Parts: sequence; structure tokens; C-alpha cells
Amino acid sequence: MGGTNLRVCEITLPEEKSEFDIIQSKYRMPEELKTGKSEELWEYIADCVQQFFEFHHEEETGVVPLGFTFSYPATQNYINHGILQTWTKGFDIEGVEGHDVVPMLEDAIAKRGLPIKVSALINDTTGTLIASAYTDISTKIGCIFGTGCNAAYMENVGSIPKLAHLKLDPDTSMAINCEWGAFDNEHLVLPRTAYDVKIDRDSPRPGQQAFEKMVAGLYLGEIFRLVLVDLHDNNEVNIFEGQNIERLRKPYSLDASFLSSIEEDPYENLSETQDLLLKYLDINTNRSELELIRRLTELIGTRAARLSACGIAAICKKKNIKSCHVGADGSVFNKYPHFKERNAAALREILDWPSDTRKDPIEVVASEDGSGVGAAVIAALTNQRIRDGNL
Ligand code: BGC
Ligand code: MG
Repeated sequence: MGGTNLRVCEITLPEEKSEFDIIQSKYRMPEELKTGKSEELWEYIADCVQQFFEFHHEEETGVVPLGFTFSYPATQNYINHGILQTWTKGFDIEGVEGHDVVPMLEDAIAKRGLPIKVSALINDTTGTLIASAYTDISTKIGCIFGTGCNAAYMENVGSIPKLAHLKLDPDTSMAINCEWGAFDNEHLVLPRTAYDVKIDRDSPRPGQQAFEKMVAGLYLGEIFRLVLVDLHDNNEVNIFEGQNIERLRKPYSLDASFLSSIEEDPYENLSETQDLLLKYLDINTNRSELELIRRLTELIGTRAARLSACGIAAICKKKNIKSCHVGADGSVFNKYPHFKERNAAALREILDWPSDTRKDPIEVVASEDGSGVGAAVIAALTNQRIRDGNL
């Protein structure tokens, strides 16, 4: 379950490592669910699982283990347990924060009589990390650059102070979900613009996800929209003069794909940009307005890519990682033009690799459909550990 889509996947992990078979269906998270009732959310998810199960799953007896990728910050004391800390990405559903979401999903699944049990709950970044590492052992970090933004890496238990009381072997590895979207919630470090401040203030959770609100897909279109409205309303700047910009005034009416199309538009004509503004916003544009719009998307996209690189560099510095692959997934990473190059260029600057470096020692690589596969790997591992009496 992510901020925009819900995917249901059935994954087969053969004996030979590094391979998997996947069947999957993608469903959209309906907009009204995001601020609706808790029950409606779980019913919807269970409906999708049921639909998928009845269509794809071959008759067999026995309980099917489900790995639940829950792409929100959760407190986890057990692998099949997760208390939602706070909704992010514009979600605002009452009665879920502070509660374990696993029984909520399980109840809705049980009502449908499906032989499915939640074996593991994981974050999408952890899923991406595990899925990437499953096929590429040089993976040390998993990232999501999508509707939201976050990363996970493996830590040794000895470096996790809050687990000291468990007296575990200090070298045992544990996945850490960084929740870096919440970095600088105190607003002490990152230089914020008036637009960042407004986005935060008008969001369902002001004061939270400060970093995410500057870099994630959900907000890129909104930053762009706010700048244009501001320029229009500013008497010293002439833009869209004499035009009715009512459509542009609607919050969250533009998504990151709008910016992607503009960044992809050949600069000579910017005719696609012109068409988009006319079609979706009813605004006519001249050449200088088009150039301004293009430059604005470049600034917003570049800031997002460069700030994202800071997160990756921070993990590498903390763990003293000199070379690795970073498995990445999400709509911004996969679809936003130049994101990868801008991100890589920033990493190079921060980590100060010599200019004659042939191949970047730390490379962010696509891990498509990662989080689903990762959830399955973890669910399978959990079941194995139960069978072996280790859990
Ligand atoms: C959530 C993270 C998640 C990220 C990417 C953020 O809003 O807090 O848990 O990993 O989005 O989906
Ligand atoms: Mg003006």
C-alpha cells in the first residue's frame, strides 16, 4: 500500500536464489479513501486482495502468507505488527494512528473468508532494499523516490541503543527504516522558501515530513503551482496578464507528471508546455512565460534530486560505505526526467569522488517492483524461522 497505488502480487521464490516469479495487479488508491474512514480503507484493500486471489491464485489447501508493505512510519515490536505513528503523503484517516494496522487488515481479509495470514509488515524502503539485495548482493541501501520519499539500510544491532536491553548479538543485522522524510521537522537546517512554508501549513499534518515536502512527488506540482500563482499575484511581475487563473488556484491540481512533461518538452518550441497550460489551466502563454515555466520545473526537479542525494550520502557516511548499489523505486525516480543524473551529480559532489572516476562507486539503480518482492522474501523468511523454531 503506497500513497498512490495499491499492488497485490503473488511471488514464487524458487530454490535457486536470485530469481522470482511474480504475478501482480495494480489498483489505484481512490482519492476519497485517503481522508475517509478507517473501515473503508481496509475493506478496499481486502477487496483488491480478494479479487486478485480469486482470479490468480490456484486452488490449494493451507494458509497463504502475506507480506504487507505498509508505506508509512510504523513502530514495530514484532515482524507481524506495526503501529502507525502518523499518516503521511496527504492521508488523514481517523482511528488508525496509534494502532496496530495488521489486525485491521486481517479482520477485513477474514470477513471474506480468504485463507490468508499476514506474516510480516514492512516498509516499502525495506522491501526495496531486501528485493534489490536478493538479486544484487552489492545493494546496501533501498530508497523510494515516489509520492513520498524515504530510505532503509542494514544496521548492526550493537549500534542501535534502544535495543541494548535485549542483549542480542551486537553483530546481528537489522533493517532500519530511516523515515528521512521527517528530517528537519524542527526547521533548523534546510533553507525553506515561502512556498515550502505554505505547503506545510496547509497540509493535514503541519510540522511533519519537512524534508519529504521539499522532495517527494506529491509536492512537486504543488510547489510549481504556488510559485506561478505568487508570480501572477505579484504586481511587479507580469505573467499571464489579463487572464483568469482560477484553475491554477486549485490546490494539488497539478502532479509531478505535469512537470515531467514540461521538462521533456524540446526547448526550441516548448509547444507541449504551451498545450498543457492551455488544456489543463486555460492559460495562454508567450515565449518568455514558457521559458520561465520550464526554468521553474528545472529548479524544482533539481532541488528534489540534490536534496535526495544528501540522504543517500548521509547513510554512506554514517556506515562508512565506500561503494555499493542503492536500489531505488518510485515514480519520481523512474519517470521524472534527469532525476537520476542530477541525483548522481550531487552524490559525486558531496562524496567528493575524483573527477576522473570512471564509474561512480555508489550507484543508484532501479529496483522495479521492489517493495512487493521484498515483502514476499521477508514473509517467506519469517515462516522459515517459525518452522525452524527460531521465532
Ligand atoms: C513514509 C515512508 C515511506 C515513504 C515512501 C513516506 O511518506 O513516511 O514510510 O517509505 O513515504 O513511500
Ligand atoms: Mg503579476
